[in-house]
Amino acid sequence: MTFLNRKYQDLTPYTPGEQADEEEYIKLNTNESPYPPAASVQVAVTKAAQKLNRYSDIAVEIVAKPLAQYLGVKEEQLILGNGSDEVLSFIFQGFTEKGIAFPDVTYGFYKVYSGLYQVDSTIVPLKNDFSLDLKDYDELPGTVIFANPNAPTGIYLPQAEICEFIERHPERLVVVDEAYIDFSGESMVPLINQYKNLLVVGTFSKSRQLAGARLGFAVGNAELIADLNRLRFSLNPYNVNNLTQAAGSAVLQAQDYVDQKIQETIEIREWSKQKLMQLGFEQTDSQGNFLFVKHPKLAGETLFAALRDQKILVRWFNQPRTKDYLRITVGTQEQMEQLLRTLKIILAEVKS
Ligand code: PMP
Repeated sequence: MTFLNRKYQDLTPYTPGEQADEEEYIKLNTNESPYPPAASVQVAVTKAAQKLNRYSDIAVEIVAKPLAQYLGVKEEQLILGNGSDEVLSFIFQGFTEKGIAFPDVTYGFYKVYSGLYQVDSTIVPLKNDFSLDLKDYDELPGTVIFANPNAPTGIYLPQAEICEFIERHPERLVVVDEAYIDFSGESMVPLINQYKNLLVVGTFSKSRQLAGARLGFAVGNAELIADLNRLRFSLNPYNVNNLTQAAGSAVLQAQDYVDQKIQETIEIREWSKQKLMQLGFEQTDSQGNFLFVKHPKLAGETLFAALRDQKILVRWFNQPRTKDYLRITVGTQEQMEQLLRTLKIILAEVKS
């Protein structure tokens, strides 16, 4: 017997990467930052814990003010959420009456939210090299959403192509999920005043060390944000809790630390790409904090399992187009050295 509404009985939930004991495993499977937040963040959270008897500020002022300033937008052009996942869920819930289209290889939650909100979704295959051609979306109605850089491929779509699409379709909403933008190219955020049909989603989970605090945002023109807030206030006005607000505020005051860790991650990413190439791996030119690689001699699943046996967790997606690949989060230099040593041993065993 089930009490679940019939319309949810076929729902396929998201499968998160596993959270493992870091004493035992090197964790390169969920695109978190391998670095702890700045010490000042930990102090701020401890202080905020004294106020846990009070509900959180629904305006999330201590984050919204400095974040709007950092992004160069007005506060009414910004909404904060419980991770960008929550903001994305509002978008799928609220802006999809004419349907929504997204790539076949992208962030898994787009498909999950389409199912949850029973949205008419069109899944558009990426090109053979996993690149995104927005012309493939020209004939479709409704909203378009894609991640830039994309996940799990890491491929970055030049801004000019996005602008051309937005201009060709002023009546359609274009959502750019910039979860990984800090590790790569130019953000679309400065263009929100120019384009009323552009919504940009961002997160504190990847470049700002706060995956566990759950803090994400969207930036767009004030009407779009007011509509998103209608949904937010109809569900849970206290969606960003006191500890997270304190953490977010402190992170924004520790921008030097954040910038330094971004730079380190980019350098380690590029170093790792070279080393993986020398081991015979094929890969995309990832612009995220992760790598997307395959080896001609070993199936993705075999490699995933072999690494897991050696206590290294990476992500393997059992989908037709991605099953040969692994997505490997860029860890610390030591973690990547350990990964490469382990891969060398695994590959030597295959060859012998
Ligand atoms: N968008 C993309 C493309 C992602 O990879 C992720 C993280 N898995 C998210 C959004 C969600 O991030 P969060 O909810 O932690 O902000």
